[in-house]
Amino acid sequence: MKLSLRLVLLPALGGTVFLGGCYEVPVTGRRALNIVSDQEMAKMSIAMFDDMKARSRLSRDKEKVEQLRRVGERLRQAIPIWDMPDADWEFVVFEEKSVNAFAMAGGKVGVFSGLFKIIANDDQLASVIGHEIAHVTAKHVHESFSRAMALETVGMVGGVAMMGTGMSIFATESLMSIYGLGAHAGQFAFDRSKEKEADYIGMIYMARAGYNPEECAKVLEKLEELETTEQTAAKASWTSTHPPNPERIAALTETLPKAFREQQKANQVITPKVIK
Ligand SMILES: [Zn+2]
Repeated sequence: MKLSLRLVLLPALGGTVFLGGCYEVPVTGRRALNIVSDQEMAKMSIAMFDDMKARSRLSRDKEKVEQLRRVGERLRQAIPIWDMPDADWEFVVFEEKSVNAFAMAGGKVGVFSGLFKIIANDDQLASVIGHEIAHVTAKHVHESFSRAMALETVGMVGGVAMMGTGMSIFATESLMSIYGLGAHAGQFAFDRSKEKEADYIGMIYMARAGYNPEECAKVLEKLEELETTEQTAAKASWTSTHPPNPERIAALTETLPKAFREQQKANQVITPKVIK
């Protein structure tokens, strides 16, 4: 999807964005550097999502819209508030052929209608969305954005044109690319270890929401199949930023026992046994 650069509503990238500090990635507990404020990241992303909604065709397919609403609602209840601070959750189906989905800081989730052709059930949709949300809650997007901004600061991208609010075109395009959108989707694609981390966290999330974690690997298999059969033009999508591979499928399979345990724990919380 090509979005114009008229994203001038984005708030200024002030000095407040870059706050030093360390944070712990949810679920895995990995320590990582966080130099972007959650609040700014959420504000920028929400503005970007609103702009995208205003200029895109939204799906009128009631079945798809309802399926996403249903799955999104269950997933968000399984995600602790502190994993996604400043969330104003929203789940939108965009009328777009490519097989793609994204989640932004601020709890904004978009699914392209093309994704539904490979989704066989709610569990598989939850798997894709859980993975995307994990990229946000693990702050992969924050890390990538910080790196992109550091690049800009040292002037490696040439002239820095500022938008009306002080957020540069580079910052705007970088953020979109990190979310797998726009003309440069994939430019800041996450490395393999981050993909695996998102797979892991995403699987735990969807299992906690009561979905079947065995369906996660099936989505990757489906994507691999698609990769070999579809025309290149139809691909500019999730598959380009998320190379499915046997290594990821194997890791997902290894995580299954833990995911089932998490699912059981969550079940006990939701339906506590009455002790008489
Ligand atoms: Zn990913």
